[in-house]
Amino acid sequence: MEIRAYCKMCGKPYIKRNGKSLFCSDACKKARIKQRYEAEKEERKAYAKRWREEHPDYYEQRKKTVPNYERDRWRKIRGSQEYTRECPICGETFTTWYPQKQTCSDACSRIRQKRYGVNQKKKDYHAE
Ligand SMILES: [Zn+2]
Ligand SMILES: [Zn+2]
Repeated sequence: MEIRAYCKMCGKPYIKRNGKSLFCSDACKKARIKQRYEAEKEERKAYAKRWREEHPDYYEQRKKTVPNYERDRWRKIRGSQEYTRECPICGETFTTWYPQKQTCSDACSRIRQKRYGVNQKKKDYHAE
């Protein structure tokens, strides 16, 4: 269905083929987005300025607490990737940041490799 409409940017009449389209061309659409961005830029600037005036010590405070902030952020990133698993060798529950890790410790990892490792598989293969 074709609808006659007026471009929201340049005001020219055009045929609306897409129900969502408000502009006669991509150029007008881009121009409108830019126009809106420019208008909001002033608003954002004014808001940021007002906010700084209302919180004069915020930046000073932040400067002082950056190391803590960074550490917390780092912990959060790593913490969000933490896995809780049960060690198949000793049965201990452990947490790890590595998705590949299956055992609680190097010792258990070695036992596991010996038990289920590549060498074992090879032996089984030859035994068949
Ligand atoms: Zn237009
Ligand atoms: Zn273990």
